Amino acid sequence: MSFVSGIRCSKCSAEYDPKDVPLMCAKGDLGRLDLYYDYDAISVSLSKVGLSERPHDIWRWKELLPAEERFAVKLGEGGTPLTKAGRLAQVLGLRKLYLKDETRNPTGSFKDRAMAMGVAKALEKGASTLTTASSGNAASSLAAYAAKAGLRTVAFVLESASEAKVAQLLLFGAEVVKVRGIESGEDPTVRLMMEMVKRRGWYPSPSFGPFNPYQVEGPKTISFELAEEMGWRGYDWLLAPTGSGCLMAGLWKGLRDLTEMGLVDAHPKLVPVQPTGNSPLVRALRLGLDASRVEGEKHPTTIASGLSDPYPWDADAAMEGVRRTGGLGVSASDEEILNAMKDLARYEGIFAEPSGAAGLAGARKLVEEGTIDRGDSVVVLVTGSGLKDISAATRLAKAVHVIEPRLEELEGVLR
Ligand SMILES: *Cc1c(COP(=O)(O)O)cnc(C)c1O
Ligand SMILES: [Zn+2]
Repeated sequence: MSFVSGIRCSKCSAEYDPKDVPLMCAKGDLGRLDLYYDYDAISVSLSKVGLSERPHDIWRWKELLPAEERFAVKLGEGGTPLTKAGRLAQVLGLRKLYLKDETRNPTGSFKDRAMAMGVAKALEKGASTLTTASSGNAASSLAAYAAKAGLRTVAFVLESASEAKVAQLLLFGAEVVKVRGIESGEDPTVRLMMEMVKRRGWYPSPSFGPFNPYQVEGPKTISFELAEEMGWRGYDWLLAPTGSGCLMAGLWKGLRDLTEMGLVDAHPKLVPVQPTGNSPLVRALRLGLDASRVEGEKHPTTIASGLSDPYPWDADAAMEGVRRTGGLGVSASDEEILNAMKDLARYEGIFAEPSGAAGLAGARKLVEEGTIDRGDSVVVLVTGSGLKDISAATRLAKAVHVIEPRLEELEGVLR
């Protein structure tokens, strides 16, 4: 049984019946169909004490998810480790730094949480062809779950998508189309995806809310897990790499769910981190703009390919979360992102792709400028695995010595 009690468009407030599994507002205004839950009914079966008997994946929170568990396709999504980052904390001058290692999801990024929802709802709706527009991670997640469910995936990815992400997609059996033209400032993959949704009736499941409201509900389980892992005591900051803003919107939704359920009293300050070369959401926050006035990036350029969405589709919900929690937006240069990637690996043993490491780059800046206090407790999401984009890691790595198998030669090359 689903506890979704209502569905309402974020732009025009039109109401929809959850039983119809609506995906987009029929008015064509590209509003997100926000889901509302019956928290009183949920409280009857979901409580702190009952949690200990539940599995450590996103279905631990099944009452707060939009899909019924009988439609679930499970690959082990969620339940990722939260580690105390002692060495890195020392380097940054913090006392309490925690890393949520989302690289440990089935396909190597947090997008699995979202796409597990997208595919469960596709099964409920009886869809057979799924489609997505993506820089790579969301598409490879979708393709993995679709593969297990026996559904077809057509993925539109940017021409710049990393080789590893495309390889994952192909092995999962997706039909992959690489699209040129991101330089135009409009994401061409989104346009093609929408055309095919209209013409062929395919089921859209990209990782932004206006095209599929169910997948947004997957990443909110990160907020649930953090609340439980931090002992329900709260923490000061939550930083996450940000592209479309969907992850931020999900984190905020999760925080509100926790309050509605009476599980927590306070929220961490939400901080979206964007690359300097593509930071429309951060810019809008800094300028104090209304979400309706956010302008897309005309020429996105960044090494963090997973953060290259020129338009932040979920800016409204993401900005609301940042403002309501007293957070702020921060941008980090490619160099700062690469340094964060190096630090995560060298000090904490976590191998991240550039997009996955951007949150740490933002944390470092806020500590250095004094916004984050050294005594604050800080949680940083590491969202995608370094194996997703080996070229970035290779840029950071030193050349490797090749020797004849002789001790004299070995002595010559050791540090
Ligand atoms: C998609 C993605 C993000 C950003 O998430 P949004 O919902 O687009 O803001 C961050 N990190 C990685 C690794 C991603 O794939
Ligand atoms: Zn609408």
